[in-house]
This record gives sequence, structure tokens and C-alpha cells, in this order.
Amino acid sequence: MGEVRYRGRFAPSPTGPLHFGSLVAAVGSYLEARTQQGEWLVRIEDVDAPRCRIEHESAILRTLVCYGFRIDGEIMRQRDRTLAYQSALNLLHEYQRVFGCACTRKEIGDALLGSDGAPIYPGTCREGLPAGKEARAWRFKVDDETVTFTDAVQGEITQHLAHAVGDFVLLRADGLFAYQLAVVQDDADQAITHVVRGADLLDSTPRQIALQQCLGVPTPHYAHLPVVLNAAGEKLSKQTLAEPLNDDDPVPALWRALNFLGQQPPLALRSGTRDALWQWAFEHWSLARVPQHISSPLSD
Ligand code: GLU
Repeated sequence: MGEVRYRGRFAPSPTGPLHFGSLVAAVGSYLEARTQQGEWLVRIEDVDAPRCRIEHESAILRTLVCYGFRIDGEIMRQRDRTLAYQSALNLLHEYQRVFGCACTRKEIGDALLGSDGAPIYPGTCREGLPAGKEARAWRFKVDDETVTFTDAVQGEITQHLAHAVGDFVLLRADGLFAYQLAVVQDDADQAITHVVRGADLLDSTPRQIALQQCLGVPTPHYAHLPVVLNAAGEKLSKQTLAEPLNDDDPVPALWRALNFLGQQPPLALRSGTRDALWQWAFEHWSLARVPQHISSPLSD
């Protein structure tokens, strides 16, 4: 087996069925992988177990098949990965980049809000737990420096982690590993070379790069696609009750996803077959045509 030059992935959280917003991420990551003769892996991101359901996972995988996606390799599930996350956390501990934090959400609640809308951790437990307090969560000690990377769609992105987010959680107070740690360990273990996903995660990327650097794993290339907004200007999500995709009629949604991604598929393909639409997409896909907005309303 030759060395794989390109390995991409789609990493849905089974908190609900796939909707048009997730389809856009699936289509973008898939076409970028396929047109570079790469592999496309699927990972079920169920690390936040209380929000996930097995029936959503089955529905997501069924939808991907109905829409004509071909998945390479084994599907990874975060619920099987606790030991890997624990090893990563141990390593960060060894490097003295982790500290126990006793603060409750309420105690942090008054802090300034960071770039992701969450309070910036004020550093209360950074140099040790206050007397008589026990650790509830474990946090990553961020460096006082900027992280910079070049996103294939959004251009150069710079974030000063300490100013924008502060020391962030790796192991949550409820005993679950945080998404940031899980995603870094998973991308490393699946040898992902290219991450193509929604721009709602642009703000998380510097945290992931800081963890990669600390753990000594490669940083993949990143491309963040515009996020789909509904008529009220909200991101399509399970919370905003985005409609599930129709498994029996993939062509209209696939066509709209391509159009949303700036590919301008011919109108005639809207009433053609699924495979004809994919064929056109394989031949015409261009990441350079994806609009550079962080978000964009859906239109026909
Ligand atoms: N699981 C995340 C989501 O469904 C995606 C995470 C990622 O692509 O890194 O939004």
C-alpha cells in the first residue's frame, strides 16, 4: 500500500439526523478528498454522550449511503476511544500543561466573554487549587502567544489563545473528555491530513493546533466552509430545528449544497440522477470557488 497523500474526514455528532448544514460539510470534505485521489473517513463524534443517540448515528450513516457517499476504512466512534484520550491527557500532564480546576460554571460566569462566546477562564486555579477545594475539571494551560495558520478558504487566521479563550477544559466536570482533546487525538490516530469542516469550528482550530504541538502530532491542513444560516439568520442546527435531509430524494439537496459552495452546478442536473450530479461534481469541484464568508443565508 502506497503512502496516502490525502486523508480527509467527516465527523458528525449523532445529536440528531443530518440536515442541510451538515450535508454542506460532508459534500465539501468528500469532493476535496476524492478530487485529490484521497481517502474519506467518517468518525462518529459521540464524546458528549448525553447529547448523542444511537438511532441518530444509524440515521446519519443511512443518509450518507442514500446520498451516494462512499466511506473509506473503518468508522471510528469516540465512545470506543476513552483510553486514547486518557493517554493524551496523561502526556499533557507529564509536560505540566494540565491543571485541576475547582471553579463552578457560576464562579467563572462573570469573566469576560471570549471569541467563542464562553467566558475566558480567569486563571483562578492555574497555579494550584485554592485551599480546601477539589478539582472538578482539568484544563490545558495555554501559552501566552499567538497561533497562526493558513486556512485554504478563510486565509490567514491568528488567535491569541490566552486573550481569546484562556485555559480550556480537557476533561469536564461530568467526567467526559472535551471535544477539543478528542478531535486532536482522533485526527492524529486516523492520520488525517486535511480537515474540511464548517467555519463554526474556525475559532476552535487554534486550540487544536496548540494541543497538536504539545502532543507532538502533525497539524493537518484546514479548510473552513461557510456555515448555512436559516431565514432568521441562525446557524442550521438541531437546536434551531433544521429539517432532516430526505433520504428518498437526495438530488435537490445535493444540488443546493454544491450551489451553496459556489460550484454553480447546471440547472438541468437538478432533475437528473444522483450519480450524474456526483459525476459532474467530481469533474468540476474547485475549493477556490467556495465563498470566503464565515456564514451565508440559504437561497435557491
Ligand atoms: N462533530 C462536529 C460537528 O458535528 C464536527 C467536528 C469537526 O469536524 O472537527 O459539528
